[in-house]
Amino acid sequence: MVRVFKVSPNVQKLMIDYYKDFKRDKTPDYALFQADSADVVVTLYQSGKAMFQGISADIEAQIWIDQEKHLNNITIENTSKKEKNKKDKKQENKTFFNFSTIGSDEVGTGDYFGPIVVSATYVSKENIPFLVDLGVKDSKKLTDEKIIEIAPLIAKQVPYVTYILDNKDYNELANEDSNMNKIKAILHNKVLIDLIKKEQPKYEKIVIDEFCSPKKFYEYISSAKEKIKNVTFMTKAEDQVMSVAAASIISRYIFLKEMKNMGDKLNKKIIFGAGPQVDELAKSIVNEKGFDELKYYVKLNFKNTSKIKGE
Ligand code: MN
Repeated sequence: MVRVFKVSPNVQKLMIDYYKDFKRDKTPDYALFQADSADVVVTLYQSGKAMFQGISADIEAQIWIDQEKHLNNITIENTSKKEKNKKDKKQENKTFFNFSTIGSDEVGTGDYFGPIVVSATYVSKENIPFLVDLGVKDSKKLTDEKIIEIAPLIAKQVPYVTYILDNKDYNELANEDSNMNKIKAILHNKVLIDLIKKEQPKYEKIVIDEFCSPKKFYEYISSAKEKIKNVTFMTKAEDQVMSVAAASIISRYIFLKEMKNMGDKLNKKIIFGAGPQVDELAKSIVNEKGFDELKYYVKLNFKNTSKIKGE
């Protein structure tokens, strides 16, 4: 698997620092560095292009895609050119904007601190104009302030189910199988099943904001008691399907609240993403409370953990 995209100068700096201990001795021509990160080879070119090669290239790339979003409000799609062309073709007939849909989306998979929050919502045709009015379309472009303003209004009007995978439970799950996409799949399946049970909504389509192939998705949830069926997997679904957009906004809102609560509890400001400042924050927690306490606040299988341990 390969991911290539351009990163902004501030994110380049973070990358250089993040990978400094994993750098290869030889740097390819025109590159700033090349590093090994578990099964992924990361190369940052002088042009600002970053290349991720390997089995988990998408997961590694997501860390920096999230940083671009947090720091620069730039949205980068986590797909290769080949996949994108294929998907664009497949998706031409898949605009469900005016359907009654159930959709799910998650937040927190690129942040060292904090839980993973997954929500599913049911948006009936009748509720679409209400959401359009609130500015729900293009949820990825909404600021946190706007999210805090509109999420409670959406939650009042639209049936939803949210699941918060706290850090302790995340770390236990990830300890068994450290595959982020598997964890996501299990959680998406769960909230969609729960929403249907709870609300018995009259939906026409079920949409998941695609993060892995449908085949992989069903492999990942193979041991779930109940499996969601007739799902449409769609990339950039939050721009096209109101239930996914609403799910993404509600998830983000709850994630922001969780991060705030964590910060209050620790009497520190929690930092988003997985950059060097995050390491410093984690180190200060280790110093105050001991390493064992870290599992309540962070995702231990991120590379940040070995950095703060000084490995
Ligand atoms: Mn998503």
